[in-house]
Amino acid sequence: MLVRDRLFIGGEWVTPCGQGTLEVVNSATEEVMGTVPEGTPEDAERAILAARAAFDSWSQTPAEERAALLERISRGLNERQSEIAALVAQEVGMPFVLSNVIQVGLPAVTFMSMAEEIRQLPAEETLASSLLLREPVGVVAAITPWNYPLHQIAAKVAPALAAGCTVVLKPSEVAPLNAFVLAEIIEAAGAPAGVFNLVTGTGPVVGEVLAAHPEVDMVSFTGSTAAGKRVSELAARTVKRVALELGGKSPYLILDDADLSGEALVQAVMNGIQGCYLNSGQTCSALTRMLVPRSRLPEVEAVAQAVVSQVKVGSPFDAATTLGPLVSDVQRERVRGHIRQGVAEGARLIAGGAESPEGLERGYYVQPTIFSDVTPEMTIAREEIFGPVLVIQPYEDEEDAVRIANATHYGLAGGVWSSDRERAVRVARRLRTGQVSINGGAFNPVAPFGGYKQSGNGREFGRLGLEEFMEVKALQF
Ligand code: NAD
Repeated sequence: MLVRDRLFIGGEWVTPCGQGTLEVVNSATEEVMGTVPEGTPEDAERAILAARAAFDSWSQTPAEERAALLERISRGLNERQSEIAALVAQEVGMPFVLSNVIQVGLPAVTFMSMAEEIRQLPAEETLASSLLLREPVGVVAAITPWNYPLHQIAAKVAPALAAGCTVVLKPSEVAPLNAFVLAEIIEAAGAPAGVFNLVTGTGPVVGEVLAAHPEVDMVSFTGSTAAGKRVSELAARTVKRVALELGGKSPYLILDDADLSGEALVQAVMNGIQGCYLNSGQTCSALTRMLVPRSRLPEVEAVAQAVVSQVKVGSPFDAATTLGPLVSDVQRERVRGHIRQGVAEGARLIAGGAESPEGLERGYYVQPTIFSDVTPEMTIAREEIFGPVLVIQPYEDEEDAVRIANATHYGLAGGVWSSDRERAVRVARRLRTGQVSINGGAFNPVAPFGGYKQSGNGREFGRLGLEEFMEVKALQF
């Protein structure tokens, strides 16, 4: 049992104002693995005031000093890599081997890359008779989800600190333990008191105080669209800046010119399935809708069934596992509900189903599942499922494919697979999404990431992700 009974506020590990605790559950064993404080509005207030008090001095530090702090944090993450990877593997269910690379390696890269970005970003530039100054936006509230807990924290904390902002972090109550390790690393790296503060608690309590508080200048939120809307409403009262990274229902278009024979077909389908099932489908940018030329549907289905039969569901700590459990009982039931609804609405189940995978009655496991003949009106084609559930949607021609791809409130990511690079780019331009992966193009940790439409606004990572945390002032001469 990992018992965390302090909050990190004003450079110290302080006793929370309330007595409440929140349990953290191991996704593979269903056992309580730890507890964290259930923060109160008073805790949130204390952290905000600490961040406010630290802002003037931190915002004036030379960029090089901030960059050096970020590099020390990055090294600290690398030093504690397997400890954090194991924590997240238990909290979230991602296989440990992948957790090392994605749940810890990526955040370490983000801290390092933001050190580089702040060194390179000109603090001043001239525009005709004006001098433009880039300044930190102020006190930032960072509210984050559970699926890539530390990655999403890094996407906010690293650029905010680099820009000269001070931060109050409220991590997800479902996977908060990794955030305590980060706080220890930031403390050991020598961040001045109040520059980074950690308050755990629930969204409706701590999250809402942060979103509404007049001393918070910006709220950077990642999570569900519903909670993002609530945060925006609260933040509007004090006209604070709001960055939102929300849900997705991302399409993967296999174009009709793609080589769909033999090994090439396997590659095309496997790329889509991997893009859907990463982290058991608990990925905001998951490629959950595979769009296939109607004439090729039977071959694609057969290959998809063969690929899924190779997926190894099991414990995150078994080296053979490729698909771990879902994060929680609530999430598993939500996903099973979607699977049942897909069947009820007439989609054709070609792999998996709502029952537990054989021999895995304990742990929040869900079978890797595929539906075919899914129409855009069906709930499973419209709503984010956040589990290992792929829907295959047949299309008639390119026009139809683009129409189906864009027929969603979301617009986070997408994928295009084609033998013709120029055609793939032409189709990608027509997708109303923040990112598009062409022929399996890999995640780029410094490319801007964010959504169109109800997937949010603002961009994270790289230079654009840094500029989110800055104001621009113009001096006229
Ligand atoms: P969630 O919205 O339930 O919670 C996210 C965070 O918001 C948590 O810290 C939670 O405590 C807080 N919160 C909840 N209600 C709040 C409120 N009323 N006021 C303030 N804060 C509140 O989401 P989740 O279940 O943790 O994460 C899954 C969702 O996150 C999915 O929809 C997924 O698509 C989305 N997500 C998006 C991205 C992205 O970058 N676009 C990345 C990861 C996850």
